[in-house]
Amino acid sequence: MRLPISEVKPDTGTATVIGWIHEIRDLGGLSFYILRDRTGFLQATIVKKKAGEDVLAAAKEASRESVVKISGVVKESDKAPGGREIIPEKFEIISKAETPLPLDVSEKVPAEIDTRLDNRYLDARRPKVAAIFRIRSEVTHAISDYFYKNGFINITTSKIVAAATEGGTELFPIAYFEKEAFLNQSPQLYKQMMMGAGFEKVFEIGPIFRAEEHNTTKHLNEATSIDVEVSFADHNDVMALLEKVINVAYEAVAENCQPQLDILGTKLQMPSKTFPKLPYADAIDIAAGKIDEDIKYGDDLSSNAERAIGSEMGEHYFITDWPRSIKPFYAMPYEDRPDISKAFDMMHPKMELSSGAQRVHQYDLLVEQIKLKGLNPDNFEFYLKPFKYGMPPHAGWGVGMDRLITTMLDLPNIREGVLFPRDRHRVTP
Ligand code: ATP
Ligand code: MG
Repeated sequence: MRLPISEVKPDTGTATVIGWIHEIRDLGGLSFYILRDRTGFLQATIVKKKAGEDVLAAAKEASRESVVKISGVVKESDKAPGGREIIPEKFEIISKAETPLPLDVSEKVPAEIDTRLDNRYLDARRPKVAAIFRIRSEVTHAISDYFYKNGFINITTSKIVAAATEGGTELFPIAYFEKEAFLNQSPQLYKQMMMGAGFEKVFEIGPIFRAEEHNTTKHLNEATSIDVEVSFADHNDVMALLEKVINVAYEAVAENCQPQLDILGTKLQMPSKTFPKLPYADAIDIAAGKIDEDIKYGDDLSSNAERAIGSEMGEHYFITDWPRSIKPFYAMPYEDRPDISKAFDMMHPKMELSSGAQRVHQYDLLVEQIKLKGLNPDNFEFYLKPFKYGMPPHAGWGVGMDRLITTMLDLPNIREGVLFPRDRHRVTP
């Protein structure tokens, strides 16, 4: 029976492990093979004078990153990782790795991000890289779990669509028989339709596609979005939900991923329970006073502006009360200040993490706002119809999962937290 490496203990008889050869050190009469599986490292120590012919032959043949199966007695050893070593009685090569390797898994030789992504399967054998994806898995689990426990229905909406969510140029057209179709930018219209269907609380964790032309460290062309929509809720209700969900994610990682955080050398900066709310007009003032850009009320916030405001705020925060002109048509205007919408962004000091709003649920107002954006309501018929037949008031948001991981772990580039990132130059692997 194969034993996970972390479970190998001294003085428990003969053990069998299967793993990759992380490192080989040959000291003449003595050689060390450091084995690795996803649970840790184990040193196999071969004393040449004492080892069997078969063991010596296989060990000689074995190369770094080959998969090998080793059986032997486990002994205590203060110099070896985990304070124990295995003395091979059997040594079998299961899958031999060619040399040279495209990438040094032992992390002694640094590699460029492009080389790493080209060889992601090898890159992900590196404990630091694997740690990021274990943490990402934990975040997905914790957030989904929170939604399930709080009555949300997990939905899956189509990623092939005929209309743009918000119009615009950020769309990928696809060849769809004789019709025009696109990859969806956001499940926005679909999750709203499910409010019309009476589902009341839905969430979806799925891909969004954006034909962003620029190459940045926070944009990808395919990203993962955590989306929610809640009926009988307003913008304040879903901001409170968002604070909770961010806290749930951080708490789960703090509680269940300490070994991975240790491998990364990362200390989590725990978020506050509630985030300060900064009205958009004040955010503009802060940015205008701090950076050398021509910024005025009504502008969208540039990345520079976001960082300037973020350094002032120093923690997660909301930007509220956005001008209607720069928020999507589905954002609800205040009854008494129709030029301002009940929309918000949720920010990490380094970048935007989420956008949300109370939505327009009145058919006539929605049509009016679609027209205000210069869009044609006829293209949105499938979406508009539910608003004619009993649409509850509702609100929601979408959080970029990739950015959540990037900021949580203070990664230098969004690509670090995405297995197979898609950008302007990369569609493989
Ligand atoms: P930005 O202004 O930073 O480009 P956005 O306002 O266009 O983002 P939204 O449409 O509000 O993005 O999408 C909601 C969230 O989805 C964003 O806050 C972000 O976390 C994530 N997101 C959007 N586009 C991308 C992208 N291209 N790559 C990675 N994450 C993205
Ligand atoms: Mg946004």
